[in-house]
Amino acid sequence: MQCAVSKAGESVFLFRHSQEQIAGWKQNKDLFYCPACKERVIIRSGDRVIPHFAHLPHTECFLSAGGEGAYHERGKLQLFKWLSHFNMQTELEVYFPEILQRADIFIRIGQKKLAIEFQCARISQEEIFRRTQGYKSLGIDSIWILGAKYLKQKGPYTFQTNHFLDTFICSSPRKDYPQLFFYDPFLSEMAILHHLYPLQASKVFAKQLVYPLSKLHFKHLFQKEKVPSSFSEIWLKEVHRLRNKVEGSYGTIYKLRRWLYQKGYLFQHLPSICFLPIPYQAAVSIPFYKWQTELYVSCLANLKTGDRIDIAQLKKMLDSFYSKSTMDFSAGLDIYLLLLHQSGYIEIQSTSILRTNQEIIYYPSQEQAFLGDQSFFNQFFTVKKAKYEHE
Ligand SMILES: [Zn+2]
Repeated sequence: MQCAVSKAGESVFLFRHSQEQIAGWKQNKDLFYCPACKERVIIRSGDRVIPHFAHLPHTECFLSAGGEGAYHERGKLQLFKWLSHFNMQTELEVYFPEILQRADIFIRIGQKKLAIEFQCARISQEEIFRRTQGYKSLGIDSIWILGAKYLKQKGPYTFQTNHFLDTFICSSPRKDYPQLFFYDPFLSEMAILHHLYPLQASKVFAKQLVYPLSKLHFKHLFQKEKVPSSFSEIWLKEVHRLRNKVEGSYGTIYKLRRWLYQKGYLFQHLPSICFLPIPYQAAVSIPFYKWQTELYVSCLANLKTGDRIDIAQLKKMLDSFYSKSTMDFSAGLDIYLLLLHQSGYIEIQSTSILRTNQEIIYYPSQEQAFLGDQSFFNQFFTVKKAKYEHE
């Protein structure tokens, strides 16, 4: 950490002092104390280390629990200096005793209060929620910028994800537009992921933008991006891969194939609407094609033109597949129905849906499914794009 309290009771921020001054304090063994636990802290510095205060070994302070490593220290300080360039009140390491939390950086813009955390250590989901809630209880929004080591790119638009990243997407202050931020203090670069869509259990589609910190304005963090045009192509490829996937006698698709077979359907011939992209924040922990297929087979396939069904009933039907009923389909289902509506298959009438006369095509062959997906998704993404363009 950068801030400690001197013997005289003054707050000392190391980055404001010269190398000589800091070396002098070290030599004289000047005493400094942690602002939170009041225990003694020591100065760490060296050729390759940004000077910072650290607790003595075996001190049990919550401020040292998240790690006080050099990487974190360097990044935090760079981010602080960067944020200080903009027209807002920016403070480093602000301690909030009411919630026993310390923000790496605290910003005020008019009435708005913002905590910026540069998170380099992997912490539990509970801890992330606890801290986010803690800030919220003081009317503070939080933005988490993750250490660059968590950014794992798999392809031009695909990234590896995990439970840790999931949590940040879910607790994003912007529910309708979650993003992920990554900072690399050695390259001084910020990477921002937009438009997150789950592809597989640990793989996500996203549009990545990378900025040198010197070229990045604070407001860029909040800028919305257009869905990249290559999304349709990538999605189509993913659907194609799924349809043709051959699994041993254990995987999700294998089990789904068997269930479908008993009902008289083939997985590879399913209509394109069983493979609609659901944005990440609304996704449930089971694969999107699985519940969309279950919804199709158990309900949509039998719905005739002009038939009406309550959305609550659809939800109940989905819940019936998952015995533990821990799955919350609400957000995902709403988005799914909206997409079906945009594609012309249903009308949404407050709490129910009405089936239109547009035919849902169950494909007669794999070849037809492939061609059908192509025209369906091309149109699907074009329509969607046009709708969002004027946002
Ligand atoms: Zn302490």
